[in-house]
Amino acid sequence: MTTTLIDNIGLLVTNNPAMGDLTAERRDAAIVIEGGRIAWLGDSARAPDADERIDAGGRCVIPGFVDSHSHVVFAGDRAEEFERRMSGQSYVAGGINSTVAATRAASDETLLNGASRLVAEMRAQGTTTVEIKSGYGLTTADESRLLGVARKLTEETTYLGAHVVPREYASDPAGYVDLVTGAMLDACAPHAKWIDVFCEGGAFDVDQARSILLAGRARGLGARMHSGQLAVSGGVQLAVELGAASVDHCTFLSEADIDALAAGTTVVTALPGAEFSTRQRYLDARRLLDAGVTVAIATDCNPGSSYTTSMAFCIAVAVRNMRMSPAEAVWAATAGGAAALKRSDIGVLAVGKKADLVILDAPSYVHLAYRPGVPLVRAVLPAYPSETTESAVFLQGKGGRDTDVTF
Ligand SMILES: [Zn+2]
Repeated sequence: MTTTLIDNIGLLVTNNPAMGDLTAERRDAAIVIEGGRIAWLGDSARAPDADERIDAGGRCVIPGFVDSHSHVVFAGDRAEEFERRMSGQSYVAGGINSTVAATRAASDETLLNGASRLVAEMRAQGTTTVEIKSGYGLTTADESRLLGVARKLTEETTYLGAHVVPREYASDPAGYVDLVTGAMLDACAPHAKWIDVFCEGGAFDVDQARSILLAGRARGLGARMHSGQLAVSGGVQLAVELGAASVDHCTFLSEADIDALAAGTTVVTALPGAEFSTRQRYLDARRLLDAGVTVAIATDCNPGSSYTTSMAFCIAVAVRNMRMSPAEAVWAATAGGAAALKRSDIGVLAVGKKADLVILDAPSYVHLAYRPGVPLVRAVLPAYPSETTESAVFLQGKGGRDTDVTF
């Protein structure tokens, strides 16, 4: 099996909990990759020989971003709605229905092309793992085909039939919950790893959310939740009670919510892009971190309330507006995302872990927040077979065989 040495790493963020501090940084480091896993990690001066060698040129290397919350399978866009909102109109969850109509009308091929383009955008910006939700079909056939599209792009697929009550069920929300927990679940469970519910005014209440998550759990799906985006609700405590992997948004939290989160295992996933794009108050991540809650950062990429694929952008906004330090935000976007997906093989750079990593065109990860809006991703590993030399950059090697890496 071919071995690849990444040498001359100026600053390496490992996130290895065995090393003590949060980001567990090493200076002048090197990594050997074999079969997509990290086979060796240590001082550059002691690096072993390998078949291929990439000179990182003193740059910073971090784990690939883990974007644990996205809605990239959809059709159409909502730029006009965004413009209206930025002109003073407030955000309401019902805007989802316009994307539902466009998505239902779109072919599988259109949906796959659109989602693939967004996943490629993510990857070019350093994201190596992405979670993708359904939620713009809201019929048994459409939710199922959205998950089929998502499955082509990631193993982290989430059934979100409970995104919003569709128009045709406006007078019978209980009937829609029956569908979500019945025939729709039957059709979707084979394509999904997770089940999610939007527990919020205008979407689903706590009792409905409970029955939806329990139905999913009975089918072997892990629980996730959207809650606290627009107001304090009982959703956060329900998520903790049910042992959900993550509760996402959490802009509005009561003291009791924070106490519950601190005592439980549920990760809070901050979605700075949503608050940016809806001009809402930001989640106070400092309050959660000080209480000992695990915080992740994700893009929430969707056409209505957060149409960004950039984890670096989300890191910068979280540092500026959520009272996170650069180290906390980078950890949240990598190891935090892995925790939100209950994954131990990603988000950390250590022997045996997946060799998903990003070479930054910067001496430090701090630049992700310090230089907002600047494309700092030099290379993403492992390179996909589909990535051509057109996008390849040649990093000069000092020994062994020089290697093309892409960015
Ligand atoms: Zn979302």
